[in-house]
Formats: sequence, structure tokens, C-alpha cells
Amino acid sequence: MATSKSARLQSPVGRNLQNVVLGDLLFQPWNQSIYPEDLVAKDADRLYVCRWCFRYSCDGDVSDKHKRACEHRTTPPGTKVYDHGGYAVWEVDGQDYKLFGQNLSLFAKLFLDHKTVFFDVATFLYYILTFTDPDEGYYVLGFFSKEKLSWDANNLACILIFPPYQHKQLGKLLMGVSYKLSGWDSNGGPIGGPEKPLSELGHKSYVRFWAERIARYLLCGKPGSSVQDPDQQKPNSTPKGSRKRPPRETITVEELGLGTGMLTEDVITALKSMGLFDPQATPKKRKSNRTGVVDDTPPGQIVTIHKSDVWDWAQAHHLLLEDPVCDSGFEGLWPPVVSSEGDSQSLTSEDS
Ligand SMILES: [Zn+2]
Repeated sequence: MATSKSARLQSPVGRNLQNVVLGDLLFQPWNQSIYPEDLVAKDADRLYVCRWCFRYSCDGDVSDKHKRACEHRTTPPGTKVYDHGGYAVWEVDGQDYKLFGQNLSLFAKLFLDHKTVFFDVATFLYYILTFTDPDEGYYVLGFFSKEKLSWDANNLACILIFPPYQHKQLGKLLMGVSYKLSGWDSNGGPIGGPEKPLSELGHKSYVRFWAERIARYLLCGKPGSSVQDPDQQKPNSTPKGSRKRPPRETITVEELGLGTGMLTEDVITALKSMGLFDPQATPKKRKSNRTGVVDDTPPGQIVTIHKSDVWDWAQAHHLLLEDPVCDSGFEGLWPPVVSSEGDSQSLTSEDS
């Protein structure tokens, strides 16, 4: 798989476009798209794409003229759902903005090779990520789409950070937003994950995102919890008053899923990637050594996790303890009711 992908990336053969110009940025597409041939000639040298609404033209003059009159040049379509540090996420309903959805999809197809869904935009929501420069206005950096009605409770159909903006951790920001939104939709119950199968690149990105999410949960508590001083989280530190409560070392995969809002299959994938999947062969009731009280661990796949291993993983992978998504950045009347129950499942809380 990797071979065929890298071969395609290296060779322009088969592309029906040589270059795209998004706003002022020129770069090469990775794949063929399905722009109508009467508008975009095969092997066209350049396709100019509006950086705000994704309308396209092979004619630079037409593109310049559009740029001056673009209806979305000052404000993105849709409703702002997140805004923090100059980055914002806007929810765009494909039903309300069909042309926008189609043009965004056509452009995205240049960089996504495994998605074929495109023109039923009315059944999708698009979440576009923008960055606003006080002098230059806003830029769309990428987006994710989500089916309005997903039988599999997928919280994301496809995700793309446009090539000039990749490798800046922006995908993690969007993934985090997708989990936050679906967490609210599900009223705190178990939620889904990205639509599968994932592309090779998507799988890699998600495994890392999931692993970081789990590590943060085990070290800091639920997503959105305030970050504690890392110096107080070292595995061997013994905070005052905690001597009678050793760090917890077993937890079920289901608990981890509930705590992080992830599917159990994704939790297992992440734990395996971290080298932390150490299941106990037979989940069984355990008794505390002195009182004989039966442990109330919920049923499920019990895994043994040493906090020191999580800490080692976090350090080796330069984990930023701060969540990429800032909870206070969410706008509107969403119900971010965070129950403090369940925090007791995290390793950290056992220490504090
Ligand atoms: Zn435009």
C-alpha cells in the first residue's frame, strides 16, 4: 500500500491537473479530482481556487474578479462553533450551502484518494477550520465532514488539512473538535469515531491522536480537565495524603472509552500502539486484601496499566499535556455539562 501511494506522490502521471492555486499559494494536487471537463481542461496547468468559497477557474483574470466580489470574503458561511487563539471552526450545513459543499469536496478530492462520496452534500455537515490574520483576513486551513445521520454514529466522515498547512498539529485540533461535538450530541453516552476504513495516513494520524488522548486522560483526567503541574504528576511522586492509595493499575477498556469518549476498539488500537495493552486473561472480581469488599470495577476487558509506562510514553513522544482543543473556545448554547463522576477512574485522581 505504502509503495503505491509513494509512487503516485512522486509521479504526476495520471493527474488531470498540474497545479492548484489556493488564494496565493501554488501547490500540486496528489490525486485526480472530478472537476467538469468543460470547465477544467485535462492537464490544465493551473486551477485557481478561491480561498474562501472554493469556486474555481482556469482563468486568472476571472479568478481575480471573483476574489474581489466573493460573498464569503469577510466571513465564512455557517455558524461559528469554536474560536480560540485565532483558530475557529464553522459548521456549514450542506443543505444550506450546496455549492460551497460541492466546491469544497471537489477541491478536497485532489488530496483524498479513498473517498468517493461527493455530491450528496445536503446530507453532510462541514466543519471548516479557519485562521484569521488581522491584516489579511481569514484563511480556510482544512475541514472535516460528518454525516447528519450516521447509523454507525461516526463522528467524522473525512478530514483534510490542506497541504500548505499540514504538519502543524491542526488535524489533532479538528479531531478533538469532532469528539467534543459528538460527545455533546450523545448526551454523555458512548460515542463513535471516524468512518472506517481509514486511509493509511488517516489511520496513522488517528492512532497517534487516540494514544495522546488516552495518555492525557490517564495523566490529567478527562478531556477538558485543567492541566496540572507536570512536576506533580511524575509516577514516583507521592503527594501528601496519598500513601494509603497506591496508583491504580487496572482499568477496563470500557472505562477508558467512557472517560475519553472513544470506541473500545479504538482504545485497544491506541493501547497496542503505545505498548500498553496488557489484558488480564480472565476478568474476575477482585477482593481488597484487608476488607474483603468486592471491587466494583465494571465488567469488561481489564487491562493493567502502570502509570510510569504512560509517563515514559508521554515523554518519549513529547506529549503536550494541554489538550489541543480549548474547552472555553466553544461557542453558543451547547450543553458542555461535564459530570465529575468518572474522573475517579483516572489514574491521576487516585494520586491526588
Ligand atoms: Zn469565493
